[in-house]
Formats: sequence, structure tokens, C-alpha cells
Amino acid sequence: VSTNPSLSTDSKVKVFIRSRPLLPSESAQESSIQISKQDNLLMLNEGNYSIQTTFDKAFLSEDTQAEVFQEFQNPIAQVLEGYNFTIFAYGQTGSGKTYTMFGSDWENMTSKSDRVQKQQTFFEQLDTDENYAGIIPRTIYYLFNSVEQKKKENSNLSIQIYCSFLQIYNEKIYDLLQDNNLNKPLGIHESKLDGIFVEGLSEYQVQHYIDTLQLMKRGERNRTIRSTSMNAKSSRSHTIFQLIIETFDESQQDGGNIKRSRINLCDLAGSEKINKSEVMAGGHLNELRNINLSLTTLGKVIHSLSSKSKLPIPFRESKLTRILQESLIGNTITCIVATISPSIDNIDETVSTLKFAERAR
Ligand code: ADP
Ligand code: MG
Repeated sequence: VSTNPSLSTDSKVKVFIRSRPLLPSESAQESSIQISKQDNLLMLNEGNYSIQTTFDKAFLSEDTQAEVFQEFQNPIAQVLEGYNFTIFAYGQTGSGKTYTMFGSDWENMTSKSDRVQKQQTFFEQLDTDENYAGIIPRTIYYLFNSVEQKKKENSNLSIQIYCSFLQIYNEKIYDLLQDNNLNKPLGIHESKLDGIFVEGLSEYQVQHYIDTLQLMKRGERNRTIRSTSMNAKSSRSHTIFQLIIETFDESQQDGGNIKRSRINLCDLAGSEKINKSEVMAGGHLNELRNINLSLTTLGKVIHSLSSKSKLPIPFRESKLTRILQESLIGNTITCIVATISPSIDNIDETVSTLKFAERAR
């Protein structure tokens, strides 16, 4: 695996903040929090709250999906050099995690019955503002284009791409692409040869961005169906959409130089505090505890990574961090997009998300 010295010296976690606009349903009765940015600081001033958070880049309500994605183009190019790349969308339910990772509205433009031609056009127009595709569809498209480019530069390169999509719900792992009923939890194993892996998780080989997008949509559908049938909110689960890239230079015939790297795109469970009424409603306490456990562990892991502490990193304390362990150490690029709501009603959660972001960097 090749290394890039300029990157390894700068390999700490990058923190992005994204504040969504007030929604039409909110703007009538609520006022928005004053959020502004200057240099590398985000400032929130409201009544008793005065918070400053350092960030690598902040996006305010007027910033588009295309502008957000621009920040992630370089990391995707690095993936083809052997780097692992992980993005976490962190924030309370309703703050814009799914919008940021998956997008909205654009689903209608790319239904399965659509002609390939129409889907092609959809992708080609990603950079214009009329569509709402988020980071995942954009990453898919950009990755396939980068691969084409790379193959043109070096005709000896063979590059395979695989795709997996999993959900972690209540500390159990489900395959969103294979297990339509989501009733077969999978275990995590470790072996000398394969490292840490989810046993039985499907990896579909993909040849084109349109196939990959179809897989993403299949997984999304499974996630939604499950959340309604089980009366469990999808906001209580983490999902990880993974792209696995294998690069092999055929001109070097020793056979031992397959580079395998991963892109992990994580839409995390809502970070909001356990709400008393939810606990009283019964049955969910365990689930709520598990969400807190995995987000707290993620916070600890990220803090140890960015502070380069010598203490052992607690990857094993949650399924989320255990699955991602090998993607978070070594030649890696790790980014957090902390999503916040500007509504005054959400100020406590917004402050808590900004504190998480501050600690991550
Ligand atoms: P979460 O996944 O964090 O629970 P969502 O992504 O579902 O939140 O967003 C909640 C609502 O806000 C959705 O209706 C979504 O379309 C809207 N929204 C989120 N972020 C933005 C944004 N940057 N611009 C416009 N609308 C947004
Ligand atoms: Mg969501």
C-alpha cells in the first residue's frame, strides 16, 4: 500500500458542520438560532448559550449538496491509492443526516422503471443545483469516473468494486441487501487472512454506477420497510454503505500486490438524549442504551484517534467501531459531518452536537 507523507502527517479526523435551513413546518412558529462562521470557528449566540466550535469547513443553510460533496472528492481519489475513507453523519434526528448522506426528492427521478438514459442524465447533472442527491450517490458516480480515468492512465490496472450495505440496530448487524426481513443478525469475526469482517455480509460486485445506485436503493427500501413493520424508528439504527475497491497492477506479476481499500458512508442513529416519555412507553430502554453506548464509544474512539493518545482505543466496546476498526487506523481519512438544526426548540441538542464536533478534532 502506497503512502502519502503529506497526508499521513495530517491524518487526524476532519470535522464538518452543516446547519440545515428552517423547514416550512417550523418557520411559522419558531425562530432560528443565530449561527455564523468566521475563519475556522462556528459561533452560536443565543440567550444563555454562547458556543464556539472549531471546524475544517462549515456549511450553512444556503450551501448546496454539490458544495458539500466537493470536500470529499480528494479523499475518493486517495482511496484509489490505497487509503480507507470514512464519513460519519452525526446529529439529532431531523437535523439532516439522511439528507446529507442520501439526499431527498431525487429518488423519484431514478426509479427502477426509469430508462437507463434518464438515469444517466440524472448523474450527469449532479453538479447543478436542481437535484438533491447527497454524498452517497455522488460518491458512487465520482468513484466510477475516477476509476475510468485511472485505467486510462495505466492500462495494466485492474480495478474491481464491491458494495455492501448493513444496518446496526440494537447492537445487532443486519445485511440490508440480502436479508429482506432483517431477522438474521450477523456476527463479527477476525482472522489472520481477512482481518475483521462481518461473517456472511454480502458483497456485490458492481460494474457501473447505475447498478450501484440500485443496490443503495434496495437497501434503503429494506430499512424503511423494517422500521414501519417493527414500529421501530429508523432513527434508532446506524447504517453503513460500503464500497470496497480492489486494485491490482497486472504488470507486476508477483500476485501479492492487490490493494484493498474501503469507503464507509455512515448515517448514524439520532444522537438525541433518551427522552423520558419514550422510556415510559416501555420496551425500548435497552435499545436506547445501546444507541448511547455506540455513539459514546464512537466519540471516545475518534477522540483517541485525533489526539493521537497512546492509550488503547476502545474499538471493541461497540459493533459500529469494531466493524470500522481497520478503516480508522493506518492509511485513513476520517470525516465527521455534524448536522444541526437552526430551530430554537432544538438548541440543547445543537449545543451537544457542537460539543461532540469540538471534541472530535
Ligand atoms: P435526520 O436523518 O438527521 O433525521 P433528515 O435528513 O431526515 O434528518 O432531515 C429532516 C428534514 O429536513 C427532511 O425533511 C429533509 O429533507 C430536511 N433537510 C435536511 N437538511 C436539509 C438541507 N440542508 N436543506 C434542505 N432541507 C433539508
Ligand atoms: Mg435519518
